[in-house]
Amino acid sequence: MEHELNTLQSQARELLAAVENSKQLEEFRIQFLGRKGRCSTIMKALGKVPKEDKPRLGQMANSVKKEIEILYADKQKSLSLITAGSSSQDNSIDLTLPGRKPEIGKLHPVTQIMNEVCAIFESLGFSVAEGPDVEHDHYNFEALNIPAHHPARDMHDTFYVSDSILLRTHTSPMQARIMEAQQPPLRVIAPGKVYRCDSDITHTPMFHQVEGFLVDRNVSFADLKGVLTVFTQKMFDKKLELRFRPSFFPFTEPSAEVDIACVICEGKGCRVCKRTGWLEILGCGMVDPEVFKKVGYNPEVYSGFAFGLGIERIAMLKYGIDDIRLYYENDLRFLSQF
Ligand SMILES: [Zn+2]
Repeated sequence: MEHELNTLQSQARELLAAVENSKQLEEFRIQFLGRKGRCSTIMKALGKVPKEDKPRLGQMANSVKKEIEILYADKQKSLSLITAGSSSQDNSIDLTLPGRKPEIGKLHPVTQIMNEVCAIFESLGFSVAEGPDVEHDHYNFEALNIPAHHPARDMHDTFYVSDSILLRTHTSPMQARIMEAQQPPLRVIAPGKVYRCDSDITHTPMFHQVEGFLVDRNVSFADLKGVLTVFTQKMFDKKLELRFRPSFFPFTEPSAEVDIACVICEGKGCRVCKRTGWLEILGCGMVDPEVFKKVGYNPEVYSGFAFGLGIERIAMLKYGIDDIRLYYENDLRFLSQF
């Protein structure tokens, strides 16, 4: 009996190790663990052994049966894993298919230009400040020397939230907010979104501006020219001629609009510059003494300059794009080029 149990155990181990597929495994199960299999035959034979050997042999038979059951279960598990692996290898993965390239996200071209503009001014010692998109009429107009019924308000096509609250039409309110809170010397740029009720090939209802201003003692128009010259050269990566045309803004005096020599034709005249050789790029001027008075600075002591530029405008010039709306149509074929 003892010998038979040992044989059963070693044969079961040997056979199970050789099993390679589920059909062989099933044959093994019937042969060893089935109702008329070798395990139950030997269990039945236990009834005929002498009484004194029964406990020892019974225990031995049980442990042999248990081991065979465990080995069988392990084999079943490993076979099913192999089948699962091989079926996916055979059927669902086609190794000849071209790989899928992960799409890497990028910053929107307008954000890229915005970051570039900020970096240039930061390298010139300006700090960056951001303000609210929903603004008080006071900061957007009154504090900038644009009282109610001033004709300049008509140019702004303002979105009003209520009589005194609006979506800011320019980033200039930050001038008033910062001057109100801090004392000169100031060297600040304020980037952000601005809103105007206007939409065509060169206008969108929301666009981005950067406002910059510098206030100190003895600031002159020459300082303004210097800063803007350095900025345009860094921005467009070449020495571009600048042209200052007299203009009018209620919060600067004198005011000017600045053109750069056309980045496309370098002044010879092309479609982008409408054959003039010049491109309008920003508005600027010396801070109006009235604005200083409103925030409590003494205009006899302090002077300063301010400028405002449109980010989309710069992006259009830099990348040679003639329709501003392309930036906001979310066409990835367009956006992923930058
Ligand atoms: Zn041109």
